[in-house]
Amino acid sequence: MPYSNSVQVALPVPLRQLFDYHLPIATSDASVGARIRVPFAGRELIGIVMSKTASGKIDDADIKPAKELLDSSPVIPEDVIQLLRWAANYYHCPLGEAMQAALPSLLRQGEPPRYQQDSNECYWQLTAEGQGLPDAPLPKAPRQAELVLHLRKQGSCKWEELKSLGFTRDTLKRLTERNLIEPSSSPERLRPIQPPLPLNTEQQQALDRIQLGSYNTYLLDGITGSGKTEVYLQAIARSFELNPLSQTLVLVPEIGLTPQTIRRFERRFQQEIVTLHSGLTDRERLNAWVKASDGRARIIIGTRSAIFTPLRHPGLIIVDEEHDISFKQQDGFRYSARDLACLRAKNLNIPVILGSATPALESLHNAQTNRFVHLLLRQRANQQAAPAIQIVDSSLCPPDRNITDISLQAIRQHLSAGNQVLVFINRRGYAPTLQCHDCGTQVLCPNCDARLTLHQQPRHLHCHHCDYQCSVQSRCPSCNSHRLIAIGAGTERSEAFLSHELPGTDIIRIDRDSTRHKNSLESKLASIKKGAPCVLVGTQMIAKGHHFPDVTLALILDVDSGLLSADFRGPERMGQLITQVAGRAGRAEKPGEVILQTRNPDHPLLGLLVEQNYQHFATAIMTEREITQMPPFGHLAMLRADAPSAEQAQHFLQQLRMYSDSLPANPALQVLGPMPALMEKRGKRFRYLIQLKSNSRGALNSHLQHLTHYIANLKPPRHLRWSIDVDPQDMG
Ligand code: ADP
Ligand code: ZN
Ligand code: ZN
Repeated sequence: MPYSNSVQVALPVPLRQLFDYHLPIATSDASVGARIRVPFAGRELIGIVMSKTASGKIDDADIKPAKELLDSSPVIPEDVIQLLRWAANYYHCPLGEAMQAALPSLLRQGEPPRYQQDSNECYWQLTAEGQGLPDAPLPKAPRQAELVLHLRKQGSCKWEELKSLGFTRDTLKRLTERNLIEPSSSPERLRPIQPPLPLNTEQQQALDRIQLGSYNTYLLDGITGSGKTEVYLQAIARSFELNPLSQTLVLVPEIGLTPQTIRRFERRFQQEIVTLHSGLTDRERLNAWVKASDGRARIIIGTRSAIFTPLRHPGLIIVDEEHDISFKQQDGFRYSARDLACLRAKNLNIPVILGSATPALESLHNAQTNRFVHLLLRQRANQQAAPAIQIVDSSLCPPDRNITDISLQAIRQHLSAGNQVLVFINRRGYAPTLQCHDCGTQVLCPNCDARLTLHQQPRHLHCHHCDYQCSVQSRCPSCNSHRLIAIGAGTERSEAFLSHELPGTDIIRIDRDSTRHKNSLESKLASIKKGAPCVLVGTQMIAKGHHFPDVTLALILDVDSGLLSADFRGPERMGQLITQVAGRAGRAEKPGEVILQTRNPDHPLLGLLVEQNYQHFATAIMTEREITQMPPFGHLAMLRADAPSAEQAQHFLQQLRMYSDSLPANPALQVLGPMPALMEKRGKRFRYLIQLKSNSRGALNSHLQHLTHYIANLKPPRHLRWSIDVDPQDMG
């Protein structure tokens, strides 16, 4: 026998199975979780050893030898493998593909799991000479002076952070040449640490209920400004007290990982903190991963995929803004990082804290049924009263503008009192519709069932679904009239309107278009921070994560799209957004005010939000969900298919439906469809879906299992794409 040992390997291929290989000659043993290079279908792939024995399904003589074992010890620790195995089964994703999500790309490419210092990664700090500079240093070099002052305040800073504040390499170089600053590999020196704040009673009670050293899920349900972050920080401090080596994994929404957030953690702890997010280079990501894996990093702050980061001494997991949909992966391996955080904590027997001012109904339900410990923070930490919310009827507003006179008057009042105003509108561009005045035709995207959005900066039409762009036609495509009118308003139009109405006032627009250039977001945020009266007009980007102490009025436009959404989660999302945006007003010393503009001023759900009671609002929606047996009462899964022709997608799903109907009837399971997706055509592809609903997770899972086996033998047409989405967040 030339080969003594064989193993099962998970490979990055869309096949729902493991593959048998012999270990390379002279390799006698391989650990589960180690990477292995193997031949596969004429190529070489890097996979993960999943079992130290072969499957037994293949004759030993037919098993191919692996090329090379890359790791002598596992790169993926056992608890993460366990998590991925569970997730691959639950979300019906091939295990090999799920494993890929857990690895930084350099490890997927076969690099050794080693830390490699990279010049971007070091910290910059003042030298003794730099510290000795006067209070107003370097009057002839304002940029250098600014950097010196920044470092004096912050202690040491990563290049990444300095870059995001607009400092250049050149400034660093000049200061280094003058021997005023120096690089350092660790941030420890000079970082001034802020002591913990004395907690208020609610915060103290919440903190005291969090038991370290064993599993429980805590839902920290606290209104905006109630000091949830302070509770996280003190829970981490206790975790360090219990075990100085312990590590905390903090998951934040994509949009929430701002330098501001990171700084709050850095100011409190001397321990090393790393971040994991999409803005990192491959090397930076691997370095952070290595530091988490070997235990050097004690706090790991990351977005969704950070849930798979190996931890040497896991002590605590925190998921901030747990309701945020960016925790759910929307393609490929469609996992929920929040839900996996709970599972991982359970497997590790450590606590997990889910924090939000607007918890997801799923989490509230878990708290109400005592699966989670419900921790409530009902008062603002700084004793500030919650802002008053006023509803303004916008149905009489002329079609070319979206800000009513009442709202405009309120904006003027707040500005003249020296304050700032935030105008939230969930739609970028100038106008969402270009319509013919004579025949009513709307200008549509040629690839999607969607209208083209008119943009003025620069002037063009843009599809926000497939990115199709074209110049603005001057005539109606159907009747040739040249009376094409922009209907409705996005951020650009609101900006233009406000500039016109409020001459001399700074109108700062923050959306994806206005912040495309490097550092433009930071420079806009910096000018808002200065505190002079201004109006901020923006999308979601301003609703989360940022702290605007001088905003006293928040104006929320267009809440109707959420209220009347075809997606059953529309009202929940709208309520969360309104509550979050309202929380931006009057956070500091100044009291705040909130105006909601709507064409449905009598809508009962809005009434509940005006009472400032997300809990009551959530209870109302929860009742509806119970009646309709939608989540969190029923469990959903979507089978989606899209193809260049509607028939292909329909036919594929019809086959699945027929197969599904042929399975032994399960009274717990309801199957609907195939039916067109909310947007049937998108990006030249036709989209259909089947919805499965069940009160029993087991029934749902086993039904999906049968369907995936069936699909494996079905040979769908080449251009058809299909997917399974368990616990879908997006019903489209
Ligand atoms: P949340 O995350 O719940 O929205 P934050 O943690 O951002 O709230 O806290 C809001 C503000 O209140 C912050 O400026 C914070 O420093 C302050 N704060 C939090 N806890 C306390 C406390 N116990 N005493 C005084 N101020 C506090
Ligand atoms: Zn026309
Ligand atoms: Zn399109």
